[in-house]
Formats: sequence, C-alpha cells, structure tokens
Amino acid sequence: MRYRFALILIGLLFTTMSFTGSSSVHLPAGQPVTIVSAIPRLGAHLAPVPGIAILAKQAHPLLCHSSGHQKKVTLTFDDGPDVTYTPEILTILNQYHLHATFFNLGQNVQAHPQVTRMVYAAGHTIGNHSWNHTRLTALSPTGVMWQLESTNHIIQQTIGIKPTLMRPPYNSINNMVRMQIEKAGLQPVLGDVDSLDWQRPGVNVIVQTTLRETGNTSIIVMHDGGGDRTQTVGALPLIIQALEQRGYAIVPIQQLSGH
Ligand SMILES: [Zn+2]
Repeated sequence: MRYRFALILIGLLFTTMSFTGSSSVHLPAGQPVTIVSAIPRLGAHLAPVPGIAILAKQAHPLLCHSSGHQKKVTLTFDDGPDVTYTPEILTILNQYHLHATFFNLGQNVQAHPQVTRMVYAAGHTIGNHSWNHTRLTALSPTGVMWQLESTNHIIQQTIGIKPTLMRPPYNSINNMVRMQIEKAGLQPVLGDVDSLDWQRPGVNVIVQTTLRETGNTSIIVMHDGGGDRTQTVGALPLIIQALEQRGYAIVPIQQLSGH
C-alpha cells in the first residue's frame, strides 16, 4: 500500500484564500492537528510563502489533489546548522543547482553563525525550528513564544533578516502553537515526506522511503544536524537524481505551488 501525506495550505491574514473544510487527524507523533483545505496560491520567487502547510498522513483523498498536479517537490533540512554536514549538503545542492530550506535551531545558529551565513549566502531559505528542539505543544504560550522569538532574533542577528517560515519540532502542532507561530510573524511548514534519515537506516532505505512517499508538491524532510548525517549526505544525490529522472522539478519552497 502506498502511503502518502496530503499537503494542505491555508492562508494567512493577508492572503486571499477560501477555506473549504476542516477535520482532525493524528500525526505519527500522536499530536492532533487541524487540517484545513484551501486553494493554495503561493507567491512568486523569493516571496514569503503565503500559506501554512499542514500535513496529514492518509488524509482525505480530495485533500491530496488540492495540493496541485504539477510534479514539483521541495527539499528541507532540519536541526542544523552543523559544521560538518551542512557544508557537505550545500556542496551537493550546488552541484545540482538546487535551492532548499534549512530549518535551524536557535542554539545551533548561536554556536555556528558562520554556517548559517554560508547557507543563506548560497541562496537557500533559513527557517525557524525552535531554540532547542522542544516539543512546543508541551509548553505554555509564553514558552512557545520564547522559543520562536529567541530563534527569530538570533537568525536576524546572523543573516540580517527575520525568518518567515517555521517548522515545529516533531511536526508537533496544535491550535495554541499555531497561534503563537502566527503571532511571531511566522508560517508553520510541516513536511509530508519523512525520509527517515534521522533513524540512520542506511542510504538505500532513505532513498527508497523518500521515493515511495513523494508525490506532487511534496515537502521532503531530511536532516543536516542533530547527529551523524553521513547517510543523509550519501542519500541526497541519489534522491535528487531519481526524482529528476521521474520528472519532478525540485524547486525552492516559494515555488512549490502556483502556476
Ligand atoms: Zn527537528
């Protein structure tokens, strides 16, 4: 059986989107999220993503189709920056002329600001992944806001601009967390393809899992930090080559949807 996640984009205050329904599901982490389907209308190149991506495993089939018919996917890397693996991933992305999104931890940006600057200078997007990889749904609203703002602040100090995108650790989100994320000027971006690279199951398993789970407008989750990412580095070129052979365009997240 083919497992697929659905990508659902919902609009922010200043976007023009029409909501068509909602339901509740449980992500693998066991955290309830609200699924809202909408018509995604993402902006032009380099514009902020005017939507919130909430992903549901085995969601309603109609929601799968709402994410678009174009064979586009985007790559994301979490838990960095890392002095060893982030530059290796940058080299690979540069070889294939691709741009990705790096969801950084504030504490790692503080420790390795030069790596975050290197990622940004290479044209990639820097997103907020909390300060220290806390499960945000377990915190108070004030605690969540501290995680968001301290990370926004260190990223702005490091690259000169505030991030606009936020991926909560463990894809763990609820209405309270989502409200705090929006209050902090961020848009939640979850991923629908878990490459399983964090489990270090071997390069072949990472490649096969990613290819099996990827569909149109998938957001692929990999990791440049948080441990030994040798397998991620090994799998990345194979994933890129296989996706391109299958006709997928690997685009920056800002170009994932739209026409
Ligand atoms: Zn993470």
